Amino acid sequence: LLAPGGGAAVAAARPRYLDPTAAPQARAADLVRRMTLDEKVGQLVQIEVGHVLRECPNGIDDGCARPIVGTYGVGSILSGAGSAPFGSGQANTPRHWAEQINALVHASINDTRLHIPIMYGADVVHGHGNVLGDTLFPHNLGLGASYDPALVRDLQRAAAADAVATNVRWAFAPDVDLAVDTIWGRYYESFGEDPTLVATLGAASVRGLESNPLLASSVKHFIGSGRSGPGLDRADADVSWRALADRLIPAYRAAIAAGADTVMAYDGTVDSVPVTGSRYLLTDVLRGQLRFSGVVISDYGAVRGLLNNFHMAADYEHAAAIAINAGIDMTMEPDDAAAFTGAVKAAVAHRLIPMTRIDQAVARILTLKFANGIFDRPYVDAAQADRTLGAHAELARRAAAESTVVLRNAGSLLPLAGDARLTVTGPGADSVRDTLGGWSIGWQGVPADSAVRAVTVRAGLANADPHVRYAPGQDEAVAAAGDTDAYVAVVGDPPGAEGPNDSRDPTLPADQQALVRALLATGKPVVLVVLDDRPLALGSLVDPTTGAVGPQAVVMAWRPGTEGGNGVADVLFGAVNPSARLPVSWPLRGADHRSGYLDLTLPTTSGTPGGTYQPLFPFGAGLSYTDYTIGPVAAAATPGGVTVTVPVANTGTRAGDLVVPVYVSQPVSAVAVPRKRLVGFTRTTLAAGESRRVSIAVPWSRLAVVTGDVDGDRHAGVEPGAYVFASGPLTAEPPPVGGPGTVRR
Ligand code: BGC
Repeated sequence: LLAPGGGAAVAAARPRYLDPTAAPQARAADLVRRMTLDEKVGQLVQIEVGHVLRECPNGIDDGCARPIVGTYGVGSILSGAGSAPFGSGQANTPRHWAEQINALVHASINDTRLHIPIMYGADVVHGHGNVLGDTLFPHNLGLGASYDPALVRDLQRAAAADAVATNVRWAFAPDVDLAVDTIWGRYYESFGEDPTLVATLGAASVRGLESNPLLASSVKHFIGSGRSGPGLDRADADVSWRALADRLIPAYRAAIAAGADTVMAYDGTVDSVPVTGSRYLLTDVLRGQLRFSGVVISDYGAVRGLLNNFHMAADYEHAAAIAINAGIDMTMEPDDAAAFTGAVKAAVAHRLIPMTRIDQAVARILTLKFANGIFDRPYVDAAQADRTLGAHAELARRAAAESTVVLRNAGSLLPLAGDARLTVTGPGADSVRDTLGGWSIGWQGVPADSAVRAVTVRAGLANADPHVRYAPGQDEAVAAAGDTDAYVAVVGDPPGAEGPNDSRDPTLPADQQALVRALLATGKPVVLVVLDDRPLALGSLVDPTTGAVGPQAVVMAWRPGTEGGNGVADVLFGAVNPSARLPVSWPLRGADHRSGYLDLTLPTTSGTPGGTYQPLFPFGAGLSYTDYTIGPVAAAATPGGVTVTVPVANTGTRAGDLVVPVYVSQPVSAVAVPRKRLVGFTRTTLAAGESRRVSIAVPWSRLAVVTGDVDGDRHAGVEPGAYVFASGPLTAEPPPVGGPGTVRR
């Protein structure tokens, strides 16, 4: 394979951009100077690989790739929506991916005058779910329940290695949108409803991905995604500036500070302004306030969407000009490189886009490529790919166990005895699809006909206990009551991805409620394991007057991934003492699907009038097999923020990991602020009987809120006054002002 730069002829007077010792920016600047307008405009587009494959039915080579890759000199290629790009079924191997992407890179180097390699991108959102045989981790919402940034970093590092092994050099992850509406189809792609939690885990995810020098991450979808309602992807996020600044921006700020190379723009609107065309959001906020210096990429077809969906422009030329002038550097234009490059060139000719802006965008894209080794290490050893992918089973199992939340455990039903006679039933019990979740199989994953492996809950329980019986149907399950010590009912909806997963019923389906009621009627205890994209209102399984929950144990397993069943079994049998906490609020009724703890009023033990937050399980809920005491806390101001010291003790009989949250309350503030909000957390391991003090540093910036009246005279900052810190359960009364948890600013 040819090296970029074309070998001997160029080597004689090697241009600066080919000097691997020069800084990426300097190399990019040198290369931009040598490029024609056509070549520059080509770099601005990312096309769908299907575009090339139409020309290459028998596999990719320079010749068949030339009409697209060579003619337009495209900067990047992705495999996006519903694509089984390199063959389906058993052909979809990591090695085959690596070979085909190597061939695309080769075509881009060989078929272009300046030999500029393409950068290949894909959605590596919980492992490399695009190819056969990778180990998939729990989706982000499950990881949110772990409250464990080190875990998130480690598994994203593993995912990065797997992506790079197939020559995928750009992972469209992490999603750092907030999960604020359970009927939003992408709810599970978020780490949770809380800005501090999402910022912390989002930054950890970026660190893991970016720790691989050959991979770029893409934090998405800037900004407003997930706030569009009701439960609709890519609709209008009707949010105030205050909500953007206080709730949505912190995660982007943290992800950028953690080194995110690229940001993907939201392709809906904020306050009716399409983000893809918002100079304010993409340039003033993202570059000016958040100091982002990398590449901004539009979402799938979003620039064309300015024309077709939002009617912000009369033709593609004007749409492209709006987007590029607003701050889009690379356009994900899946369908038509010719139309896009033609539109941009026309816009330049008509002085709609200044040449300086084109050069700036191209320089950013080339800097990204130089910094990620795209020029110096354009190929991977395809023979290694099959060996690399599919490792990390231990890590995936640990992640599944650390994400599994025990929410109810009446009579200490859990952990189950190792020889318990269990009957496992329910639609999710033996479903690979339900275990892996979206971005795994079918639309947005490997083709539906693929032999994808995952340890289901049934299989995981059977691995741990030989006395596990599987009863697929309700009648069989009920009939087995005589030799059943406990039921494990695995319930939930089938998984989905993006818009098609929107607006689903927020309540457990009626037939599944009926199944669980039938199991309860046998008199045998029931462990309800929920495998779902989101928490579901449990309907008739909760008594409407007393609030009593029918099943003796309730366990949320989310979409736990390839090793999911083993991880769940580790928790159910007690090999792992559960430590996970809800990263979202669990609605009591379906109608509460948009009710989060940051809603201004919280229920309190004294019953504050007007409290509307009445979840079945609050944000942060989660049980352990040991007992802990937490607090009371002491807080001390430091120049950088507040150090909160929390005494914690394990008063039970087994070791465990404890998630220690820090909440702040502001007794007096100029604008209405949440009664309590999470401003920090840590995890600590405590042996039985052990006690210690943990310190959590809360930077002043976490306490900042936007103040000012609705006329737009806004000010983001830390208000003077008292701040009261607390740990323990969210629903506990905040401690009194003036105690050891109080700090004045
Ligand atoms: C999604 C993005 C994704 C992109 C590429 C879009 O439809 O919104 O999250 O990265 O497709 O597949």
